[in-house]
Amino acid sequence: MKTIKYTEALLLILFTNAFLTAQERETVPVSLEKITESVYQINGGQGANGGVIIGESEVLVIDAKMNEESVIQTIVAIKEIADEAISYLVNTHSDGDHIMGNRYFPSSVTFVAHKNCRDDFFKDNFGRESDWDEPEFYPFTPSLTFKKNLNMWLGKEKVELHYFGVGHTTGDIVVFHPEQKVAFIGDLYFSGRPQLVHSNKNGNSFKYVKTMMQMLEKLDAEIFLSGHSDPVGREEIEKHIQVMVERQNKVKEFVSQDKSLEETLKEFNENEARLVTSIYNEITEQEAEQSTENPY
Ligand SMILES: [Zn+2]
Repeated sequence: MKTIKYTEALLLILFTNAFLTAQERETVPVSLEKITESVYQINGGQGANGGVIIGESEVLVIDAKMNEESVIQTIVAIKEIADEAISYLVNTHSDGDHIMGNRYFPSSVTFVAHKNCRDDFFKDNFGRESDWDEPEFYPFTPSLTFKKNLNMWLGKEKVELHYFGVGHTTGDIVVFHPEQKVAFIGDLYFSGRPQLVHSNKNGNSFKYVKTMMQMLEKLDAEIFLSGHSDPVGREEIEKHIQVMVERQNKVKEFVSQDKSLEETLKEFNENEARLVTSIYNEITEQEAEQSTENPY
């Protein structure tokens, strides 16, 4: 039964490839990068990097990429290294490049996420109506949620899901393999571009710093995998937090000089505009709140 499914998947790839535009064909095919004994990073395809943990009896996939072809390629690549079926798909957060592919996985998979991430599935995003609120898609939305921690067992292998607080969104989780000291942290880290903080999803840069400090304190992870970077170590994560704090301090300074957002943005690089805008709004909103709370 399973064999037929994968043969079909392969045929579908060949079939789909014939109809791809030149631009689509340029997408690098999905591949698995071995990180530790049972943890792999899923590279290529359309959408963010994902992860896969090959347990003794079950397979757990982290994040779903964003189109059918990428999901089929992911399933085929996993089949090449594991006999077990995919039991779980964990969404690290609700951004499209991590969840759109959910609907192309078999519905027998259990979808797991933080409660706030599940809530985001059904909310408008950047003014666009959610397209998950259709009964046909319900089986592909997170059916198992948690608020703080969840331990999962792949045979005798333990996988910990942790929530350390608000950051890039309000529902970002960390998937941690304690024995192999690998953590998959979704979009809580970026390399080569500033950290993304989704204000529209109530993400917050100051809370992000606290969340990340908590994560480093609580987890003795040595390797950090994420959606848009090569694997990094603790040092890179610490540096990334430090850069965020430096940006925040710089913005605070300009706010204290009564500079407008436009004037503040001029002091930064163009690619920092989105983050700086979030930081600026967080500071000025907090000041406005404090002044109404304490009029004297
Ligand atoms: Zn992403």
